[in-house]
Amino acid sequence: MTHPQLITQYAKNESCTIQQALAWAGSFLRNKGLPDPRLSAELLLGSVIGLERPGLILHRDRSLDKKEGVVFKEKVLRRAEHEPVAYLVGQKEFWSLTFEVNPQVLIPRPETELLVEQTLGILSNRTGPITLVELGTGSGAVSIALSKSLTHPLTTRLIATDISRGALRTAQKNAGLHGMEKTIHFVQGDWLRPFSSRSRWIDLMVSNPPYVSEKELLQLPTTVRKFEPLKALSGGQDGLEAIRLIFRQVVKQLKRGGWLILEIGESQGSQVLNLARKYHFNPITVLRDHAGKDRVLKACYHG
Ligand code: GLN
Repeated sequence: MTHPQLITQYAKNESCTIQQALAWAGSFLRNKGLPDPRLSAELLLGSVIGLERPGLILHRDRSLDKKEGVVFKEKVLRRAEHEPVAYLVGQKEFWSLTFEVNPQVLIPRPETELLVEQTLGILSNRTGPITLVELGTGSGAVSIALSKSLTHPLTTRLIATDISRGALRTAQKNAGLHGMEKTIHFVQGDWLRPFSSRSRWIDLMVSNPPYVSEKELLQLPTTVRKFEPLKALSGGQDGLEAIRLIFRQVVKQLKRGGWLILEIGESQGSQVLNLARKYHFNPITVLRDHAGKDRVLKACYHG
């Protein structure tokens, strides 16, 4: 059967095989101009029938039952409207771990693994008990990746915050899925405000805050702009509003000699470096991601 025939057959909802369903979905998404159409089709179908991608190839002649066909088609149509594949399948891989995601949380990005790498680098040089706080944990991916990789888990106290209750519920669920529900303490609140009565108690503070400027927000792909939580993306007019607030709060709560590790936008390196200087951090490093873009600020507090 040729592709157009397959597509007509599928569109009429006649029963079809895995191979035929993938051919239809791949062509449909390609014609709609979506990136990676075949990969999306495989991930969507895999999630509907409970098979990994190799399983789809192995069982390519298996027929979809009526319900599977209907659910798959609905997901493909939603993808054609730019809904992120990660939300449609309900999960995303980060740090080789699988996390549940939904529209309440930002989808973990591969470049955020640099935040985890740098935090682990600092932790590996420290001895004795350490208090680590993650602000704006979202799906919990960063804190959970950290806690899964800690070499001294018993001496590290890990607190993860988020202002969104929906995000915290997702993060807690993810912690449970990875057996970390007792290791990470989740706190709801606005950045460091829940702890405003404490001073100089944090050894290490890590965050992937919202840092997209108003102008950049308009240029984001539809799949991000229309579907991911604005609160997790928008850093106000110049993209630095949340980062400035974090600096103001963190200098009251970070111990002297404590570290701040922040994900930043690719054009924010020099501005964030200046902010860190103003608040008496030293040394200050801006690190680049795999695409060669400024992505992480790492700075030690000496105020
Ligand atoms: N890197 C994300 C994006 O481009 C933004 C994440 C954030 O603001 N923390 O869409």
